[in-house]
Amino acid sequence: MRVSEMLLPTLRETPAEAEIISHQLMVRAGYIRKAAAGVYTLLPLAWRVVKKIEAIVREEMDREGGQEIMMPIIQPAELWQESGRWNVYGPELFRLKDRHGRDFCLGPTHEEIITDLVRGEVSSYKQLPLLLYQVQNKYRDERRPRFGLMRGREFIMKDLYSFDRDEEGLEVSYRKMYNAYSRIFRRCGLKFRPVEADSGAIGGNDTHEFMVLADSGEALVVYCPKESCGYAANVERADSPPDLTGPGEEARPVQALETPGLRTVEEVTSFLKISPRKLIKTLIYSTDKGMVAALVRGDRDVNEIKLMKVVGAINMELAAPEEVSRVTGALPGFAGPVGLSGIKVVADPEVGAISNAVSGSNKKDVHLVNVNPGRDFRPDSVADIRTVRAGDPCPRCGAALAGARGIEVGQVFKLGAKYSTVLGATFLDEKGRSRPIVMGCYGIGVTRTMAAAIEQNHDENGIIWPVSIAPFQVVVVLVSVKDSGQAGLAEKVYRMLTGAGIETVIDDRNERPGVKFKDADLVGYPVRVTVGSKGVASGEVELRLRTGGDTAMVPVHELVSRVSRILAGEQVAGE
Ligand code: ATP
Ligand code: MG
Repeated sequence: MRVSEMLLPTLRETPAEAEIISHQLMVRAGYIRKAAAGVYTLLPLAWRVVKKIEAIVREEMDREGGQEIMMPIIQPAELWQESGRWNVYGPELFRLKDRHGRDFCLGPTHEEIITDLVRGEVSSYKQLPLLLYQVQNKYRDERRPRFGLMRGREFIMKDLYSFDRDEEGLEVSYRKMYNAYSRIFRRCGLKFRPVEADSGAIGGNDTHEFMVLADSGEALVVYCPKESCGYAANVERADSPPDLTGPGEEARPVQALETPGLRTVEEVTSFLKISPRKLIKTLIYSTDKGMVAALVRGDRDVNEIKLMKVVGAINMELAAPEEVSRVTGALPGFAGPVGLSGIKVVADPEVGAISNAVSGSNKKDVHLVNVNPGRDFRPDSVADIRTVRAGDPCPRCGAALAGARGIEVGQVFKLGAKYSTVLGATFLDEKGRSRPIVMGCYGIGVTRTMAAAIEQNHDENGIIWPVSIAPFQVVVVLVSVKDSGQAGLAEKVYRMLTGAGIETVIDDRNERPGVKFKDADLVGYPVRVTVGSKGVASGEVELRLRTGGDTAMVPVHELVSRVSRILAGEQVAGE
């Protein structure tokens, strides 16, 4: 392609609304333009990257026996009513009506459609296992669409669904996808980590998320730094043995203490000159199973997902101040477990190990000191409800866990018989017995993967594409369009590279070389070939890698082999 003919609108200014680097660079380098919040047009370069990622995804899905299909984006409400999700999916579901007033939605995911397909077409064990996938736009009316393609309301996803006879079969399918995902993200040039993830409020099933490690990631993960151990989990899911090492003081009598206006852990502990580890933090939640008081040590946070599971709730949120007053008798900040009644109390095991603790008193401006769990209150249940953090011991080997931020680019999930049971997708086994098909689902965010690749591969000048997903591999920069010798050589070089099957653009615009170099860096072509006046005389061109390092003058006749070697992974510009 010729840059003079391409739709490649680069900008000098960083767009104000773009908070993270991938969003900024995709707008500045002319990859995307916004149509509405979370809805984007992908310009030619972005579309080329998407197609590269999709090609890798398709290859690896097909290698594992996946068969590609294309399901409808518009899905009838009836199927969602049948699965029970029409009412529970909530405002993220884009709903619409047809001209007859019938309800539909735009697919955020396709369990209903595919289970409906399979219940109609599969009836015998001989037809299983089956791996079906598609690559398609998905629609989710996200509460906070942001970060460009990272969290869109319309985005491209590859979703595969596995259908097996039994749990052992599912295990095989799951492993296939787990391994395929690892190959896909490796081939995309990403540094990633599969982590154990939460399987939702109903829970119990295995699931892993594939996290691209980046500071802008919205997810927090912890992992064991010991290579031989390998434990890694989303903090939503992570476990760690409780710290039960209290000072074991002799219990003193409870005392009430005036703490006017002191509500937060910080305020109370600095006023009393105690460690937050001495404090019992009491948070009041309102749930579909009633009001719940969650107790954790003062230096800990409540893991709401764990708490929901303990309570068996599907919906849960921090109670509003009025509700807190109603159930505890005081505003938030003064709630405490002593004398609390009419509300379920769940305590983290670490709370039980605090002696002579400080807690709220359920009276305004008063805290209690020398509270001793067991003596002064008894929780309804004791369960792990705290959020694990870096430094906590690994649940497998005890080493101190490390923490990182991650971008979830993919997830693999064992569904079991959840959908096949409610939708009646059954098959007859060898003995003629009817059994529900055992399912798994596996998603990759294609557009999010593109954004994540930029988060990991950029510098102050722009994007640095991994070769495998670069929109073009080489840019030929013609320094002066007006110099016919240069122009002739640049054209020759361009034809040679293109002829060798190397995806090349030629920057033939009548622009200053500085502008072309800046754009080349911004767009992120892995290899730059510069044709200037020096080269015309000597039959040489300048070769430079976007990853940095030295430039080198290369004889034109050696260029193709040199570039081919670079693209094959040998990082040698100036050898
Ligand atoms: P998140 O927790 O980030 O909202 P999710 O767990 O809801 O994602 P899944 O249902 O697991 O997402 O979807 C599979 C993949 O689709 C995700 O791993 C992610 O890569 C991608 N994805 C999900 N939501 C979005 C979105 N709003 N914009 C872009 N990609 C998305
Ligand atoms: Mg997910």
